[in-house]
Amino acid sequence: MCEVTLVGGGLSGALLALMLARRGVKVTVYERRADQRADQIEEGRSINLALSARGIHALSLVGLDSEVLARAIPMRGRYIHPVSGPCSLIPYGRKPDEVIHSVSRRGLNAHLLDALSREANATVHFQHRCTHYNPRAGALTVYDEATTNEFTTEVSCVIGTDGAASAVRDAMMHSSRMNYSQAYLEHGYKELTIPPAADGSLRIEPNALHIWPRGGFMMIALPNLDRSFTCTLFLPHVGTPGFDQLSTREAASGFFARTFPDALPLLPNLEDEFFRNPTGGLVTVRCSPWHFDGRALLLGDAAHAIVPFFGQGMNCAFEDCEVLLNLFDQHAANWDEVFPRFFEARKPNTDAIAQLALDNFVEMRDTSGDPRFARKRQLEHKLEERFPGQFVSKYAMVSFHRVPYLEALERGRVQDRILMDVCSRASSLAEIDADAVFACLHEAIGNVS
Ligand SMILES: Cc1cc2nc3c(=O)[nH]c(=O)nc-3n(C[C@H](O)[C@H](O)[C@H](O)COP(=O)(O)OP(=O)(O)OC[C@H]3O[C@@H](n4cnc5c(N)ncnc54)[C@H](O)[C@@H]3O)c2cc1C
Repeated sequence: MCEVTLVGGGLSGALLALMLARRGVKVTVYERRADQRADQIEEGRSINLALSARGIHALSLVGLDSEVLARAIPMRGRYIHPVSGPCSLIPYGRKPDEVIHSVSRRGLNAHLLDALSREANATVHFQHRCTHYNPRAGALTVYDEATTNEFTTEVSCVIGTDGAASAVRDAMMHSSRMNYSQAYLEHGYKELTIPPAADGSLRIEPNALHIWPRGGFMMIALPNLDRSFTCTLFLPHVGTPGFDQLSTREAASGFFARTFPDALPLLPNLEDEFFRNPTGGLVTVRCSPWHFDGRALLLGDAAHAIVPFFGQGMNCAFEDCEVLLNLFDQHAANWDEVFPRFFEARKPNTDAIAQLALDNFVEMRDTSGDPRFARKRQLEHKLEERFPGQFVSKYAMVSFHRVPYLEALERGRVQDRILMDVCSRASSLAEIDADAVFACLHEAIGNVS
């Protein structure tokens, strides 16, 4: 029986373990955290993620898509909150099913682990942290947090699904000629909560991703099942404004009163949460190769952590699982063949989504409050309606289709440049000749279908 050891039972580790176990592979998972399923499957308020087409498709391969979507909240567009004046909804897509879904991170992980626990040939060891790995010797060292016992076990094949700060990647870097870079944004993030109103009702529109774009920074909010919203403030670590300047309760609430006046009354625990919750960093990790000698592989954030502004980190990691599974089938479980092909297939695409995510930060914080951006979305929808199958917006290519990320990047950039140019020169959609714009796009890039 083919055997594999996964380090990390988070989102990609749990899904990949499930896929491989169902192919008859004997899977052992070492996960640093305790098993949180009992109290997390009935999740309410929690940290949430946007799930879209790629992630849903990968979940469908293990029959979990309907179950996960039943506990997700569809978000139809960006709900823009200016400093003053009326809010507006900019739809993501044209069709009713062109939505993204807010899901609980812990709830989703719990569903995957629960499904995995029903597979006879899969074992998950919780509170087991990988502390060292020697890929040449095939020796994995694990610390058992419950017993405080550290042991070394022989492993024939290891897949590192242990996230952005991967211990497996660190070990591979020391054993092979791996190139590596990490780039932090000057922005960090902090999570805050909009609770339900006193009577249990919703305080803001539930079927949208809320954005407070403010030029160099922004806040967003995604809905939870318990009618609360998880807000994330993205702000420079240092500067004016910056996290370093918000060092007192007065400074924090004063900043919110000036910058997010309509959000302040929605955040009754702002001051407590602001100082209790950590400020996280935002990093892009690039490394190559992701594999060593048919014995070790990196997947998900361990191979390619990206910033969260396209809502694709998990979706991309789930797509990784699907691609690996296809190669596993094609090459009869021969890791020597599978690992290099996986790297070759995914690396250009994960580099592309890393760039798309960085670009989208600028769009979300700087331009989504700009009327030209709203006009561009309207024009995109008009083009999609008029030229079905021939024009697909960049956002749709990434979120509603499974067009390779590299293609979405290349086509999307040309489209964005042409459409932004047209929308900057017109003051309303009525002034724009959609046929002429399509002809121009067609000449530049051909069809997207
Ligand atoms: C603020 C923020 C918002 C985001 N929003 C979105 C979004 O809307 N949509 C989206 O698609 N993505 C989003 N992402 C990205 C997404 O969270 C990641 O891409 C995704 O979690 C990657 O999955 P993974 O399995 O590779 O890593 P993880 O989910 O991080 O899982 C890694 C697992 O490995 C375990 N582990 C770590 N070290 C060890 C060790 N030494 N030994 C054993 N186990 C270990 C961890 O405990 C964890 O369970 C967001 C990220 C951030 C930071």
